[in-house]
Amino acid sequence: MKRERILVIEDEPDILEVVRYNLTKEGYRVTSSMDGTEGLRIATREAPDLIILDLMLPGLDGIEICRRLRQDPVTRSIPIIMATAKSEESDLVLGLGVGADDYIVKPFRPRELLARCQAVLRRGTLREEGTRGERIVVGRIVIDSVRHEVLIDDQPIDFTATEFRLLHFLASHPGRVFDRAHLISRTIGDHAIVLDRNIDVHVRSLRRKLGPYRDYIETVRGVGYRFRDTRRSES
Ligand code: CA
Repeated sequence: MKRERILVIEDEPDILEVVRYNLTKEGYRVTSSMDGTEGLRIATREAPDLIILDLMLPGLDGIEICRRLRQDPVTRSIPIIMATAKSEESDLVLGLGVGADDYIVKPFRPRELLARCQAVLRRGTLREEGTRGERIVVGRIVIDSVRHEVLIDDQPIDFTATEFRLLHFLASHPGRVFDRAHLISRTIGDHAIVLDRNIDVHVRSLRRKLGPYRDYIETVRGVGYRFRDTRRSES
């Protein structure tokens, strides 16, 4: 059985060792770098199946690496889990905003890391299998699941993989309310470790990118979110 290749970019030797040991034991093929510039070079050369990316690194920092990976057609769809030593939301928002799929706060338990990796890799597989012709058009928003592209007022807007799944899922079920746990399982992964707050971060970023159409994503107090049912509100 082919095992996935994971690149770990992490400059703390102890953490790198623990991560490497646990991923290898699980059967993953692990490459690593302790420097941002070198890590980016390896990512571009080897196009691994998943990248675990530390935020604070010598050379290039995690945010900049993430941004560059997302600009390169070779690496743009590789899932990225951002590892951050700080739990401040500003860092998380920054990381998710430049295209990270998930984040993990250090120090983390190996079991937690493995669950995240499995969830992100499984989603990648589903994404490759699920290429059916489908376009969702809501007013001036066009969601194209084949091209994995969103057009707003005819302009392509960059959405992260998670934001895209979230928007696509909500827009596929207009008027239906989903609680946070459900949205997490459909868009981030069905492991119980993800905090509800995580989905709020993605929704906030999603709304920002929707700009004038941000109100399509409605907050249902005490429950979760829903996509506005335009068939009802425009009649
Ligand atoms: Ca670091």
